[in-house]
Amino acid sequence: MLGYVLDEIFGDSADGHRAPSGHPERPARADAVRDALYAAGIADRGEKLALRPASDEELARVHAGDYLDELVKRVPGQSGWLDGDTYYSPGTWRAATLAAGSTTQLVTDVLDGRYTTGLSVVRPPGHHATRDRAMGFCLLNNVAIAAAAARARGAGRVAIVDWDVHHGNGTQDIFWDDPDVLYLSVHQYPYYPGTGKPTETGGPGAPGATINVGLPGGSGDAEYLAVFDRVFVPAIARFQPDLVLVSAGFDAFQHDPLASMRVTHAGFAQMASRLRAIAERFAGGRIVAVLEGGYDLHGLSGGMTVVLDKLTGPSEPLPASAPMPPNPVARAAIEGTLAAVGAAGVVLAPLAEEAPASR
Ligand code: ZN
Repeated sequence: MLGYVLDEIFGDSADGHRAPSGHPERPARADAVRDALYAAGIADRGEKLALRPASDEELARVHAGDYLDELVKRVPGQSGWLDGDTYYSPGTWRAATLAAGSTTQLVTDVLDGRYTTGLSVVRPPGHHATRDRAMGFCLLNNVAIAAAAARARGAGRVAIVDWDVHHGNGTQDIFWDDPDVLYLSVHQYPYYPGTGKPTETGGPGAPGATINVGLPGGSGDAEYLAVFDRVFVPAIARFQPDLVLVSAGFDAFQHDPLASMRVTHAGFAQMASRLRAIAERFAGGRIVAVLEGGYDLHGLSGGMTVVLDKLTGPSEPLPASAPMPPNPVARAAIEGTLAAVGAAGVVLAPLAEEAPASR
């Protein structure tokens, strides 16, 4: 059964995380996803969680004490900016702690067997928030806080797949030297925030536990599916996680105003289908998707709806491996990542037979 986090507080609520005029990370994003998921029947397909804030202990597992002290001093009840992109409004602290805490509760419930799959539709997003710094619209790293809570509750290994179009530098930073958390990111490169080179493969204590594929702008479903089949699926199969978390941003969508990728809703569906299949094979089916970015409302609402369909619909087998994409820059990116993680001791090969060439 699916558990989900969905609430007015993350959308256009008077006491929520209210954006300055014209800012792309705006309350309408969560409202668009909420409306689409209710229209798709999420209420009949799962159970809604009660919200709860993250505890001090949960926050302190991934964020520095000085950083949390600064946030608590500056943000609650105030308005301002933590960097050039990252605003806060009087309701931001409450929304941010509820986003992190409710996502953590959802992941904990999945680990405890109350739910098998989960969907968390929260704002502010989290994957750019590092151990000690807010950036890129993110204050608290929701997925990292949830992953650390899962580890504390007994999960041996956690895999985090980040398909947001931006590199999740915060999540990478937090788990850089942790061999029990596999961080996989596919992102537009070079692009904000500038990190995510293939040679970033983890610290000395965790070689190959960070895997980055930086695709050129203009990449679409074929390139993304090749990344999943050539890199992510084999890496997860090798890692054998107890839980798969997805940093589900939808800003790689073909009409997103911030980035220049060309992923379609069908592409997101195939990515989600592969992750569910690999979670079923290796992680007891435990998979939780958490909203990150995505700034085209149609891209967002349709994207999260296909993820809902793939997490609650009938199980699908892993398809035959997608071919390497024809674009030489994308091919070189995938080959560069395979070479870099190979140098870190992680040799990856597709699980399934290659699909026959189309006739
Ligand atoms: Zn993003």
